[in-house]
Amino acid sequence: MTTATKIRAAATSPKPRKTPAETHLQALKERLQEISDIASAAAVLSWDQSTYMPAGGAVARGRQMARLSEIAHKKRIDAAIGRLLDKLEPHAATLPPDHDDACLLRVLRRDYERSIRVPAEFVARSSAAASASYNAWTVARPANDFASMRPHLEQALGLSREYAGFFPGAAHIMDPLIGPDEGVTVAETRALFGKLRAELVPLAAKITAAPIADDGCLRKNYPEAPQLAFAIKIAQDFGYDLNRGRLDKTAHPFMTGFARDDIRITTRVREDDLSDALFSTWHETGHALYELGVSHDLSPPLDGGTSAGVHESQSRLWENLVARSRDFWVHSYPQLQAAFPKQLKEISLDTFYRAINKVERTLIRTDADEVTYNLHVMIRFDLECELLEGKLSVEDLPEAWHARYQSDLGVRALDDRDGVLQDVHWFAGGLGGSFQGYTIGNILSAQFFEAALKAKPGIKKDIAKGEFQALHGWLKTNIYQHGRKFGVDALVARATGKPLSIEPYMSYLTTKYKALYAI
Ligand code: ZN
Repeated sequence: MTTATKIRAAATSPKPRKTPAETHLQALKERLQEISDIASAAAVLSWDQSTYMPAGGAVARGRQMARLSEIAHKKRIDAAIGRLLDKLEPHAATLPPDHDDACLLRVLRRDYERSIRVPAEFVARSSAAASASYNAWTVARPANDFASMRPHLEQALGLSREYAGFFPGAAHIMDPLIGPDEGVTVAETRALFGKLRAELVPLAAKITAAPIADDGCLRKNYPEAPQLAFAIKIAQDFGYDLNRGRLDKTAHPFMTGFARDDIRITTRVREDDLSDALFSTWHETGHALYELGVSHDLSPPLDGGTSAGVHESQSRLWENLVARSRDFWVHSYPQLQAAFPKQLKEISLDTFYRAINKVERTLIRTDADEVTYNLHVMIRFDLECELLEGKLSVEDLPEAWHARYQSDLGVRALDDRDGVLQDVHWFAGGLGGSFQGYTIGNILSAQFFEAALKAKPGIKKDIAKGEFQALHGWLKTNIYQHGRKFGVDALVARATGKPLSIEPYMSYLTTKYKALYAI
């Protein structure tokens, strides 16, 4: 069609008139897209801060991110959004509850009612504090310097308390920090952790009483380039699309997204430990596959994962249920041996499989095995509660940390570097409300995987052939595509036919590790 005929065609076909509801909905979606664009710009700055930014950029970057956060928040709490939501209420009532717009209006109403309680000035102050704390932590951790982080941590605790204060009437001070998306309260988390602990502790005791697995084969010298090449090749096999993402290096691996088709992952490499880059890359790949799989029909704020717990279930599913399984390595181990012939030629598949599943009571959560990992999370959750409740001071935190590691895991760090300073959490904004998501993610990873296997029994055989489409397809259909349309409980019930349960997880751990450790 030429330009002239296009103009004629446009002139002769009258535009269909929009209903008032359609007009309001369009106005609302334009506002939501604008907020999302500003938040995405802040996310680019944050990604850059954690990957390529020279240290000299720190102060200006903190100011820039705080400014964008404040602008986005002001737009989020604009009374015009509240008015549009009110006008659209009769329209929402006519839609089926699962309709995209019905879900959008329901989720937005909840987000809006929460956001308007929080002043924009607080959001800017929190963002600036988080940047300053993150930059200080990158220096303080290698220097084992808790004293320099103490004011930052005290500020983070103060900000968390202040935030909780915007939601009076909560049963526990941490409940508003967890937020309604997670589908649990502190009381429910404690009950869940109690049940899990009762089964995990005896299992961990049995395994650690058996002869320990030798992971020496992972501790040779593994040059960085082939590690990264192998990690990203497998990520692509899982379904990660490099036209819609990329991999970069950072201190504490994470996934972030700037647009529906730009979802990035980061990793870190240790040349003396093969497992670090591989499993952290595949962990972040799991997060990225979730974001990339959200239906393009969904607009902000539905266009992301439904909760931190469900998000973590996807990273852990790919990292552990898939990539720490023997089936996976049947196909992938010969490829890894080809990438590192000198280091792995003499190492059998079974020796390697035992090495990557070594169970040991250790100091660092992110390096912990599947069996002891949740014990680390429970320590962090309890310490967060004690700090927020005012039962523990920041000054006494390092020693409280050591004491809990001694009593729960039987290990004690020599310094704070491997104690309270060990990872970026608590030092990059806020304290409290997120750690329970790691354990809920582990629990759900097994529940979702069990449901996928039930629906498609060939998945394990596929994995042993290096084929992941059936699993990826099931996850996309049952979890990814829905974005934030459904809450945790509804999503878990839809996908697995049951409420959240620790049974699939404990049965997975028990079966796997009984065989590995002959207990
Ligand atoms: Zn994660």
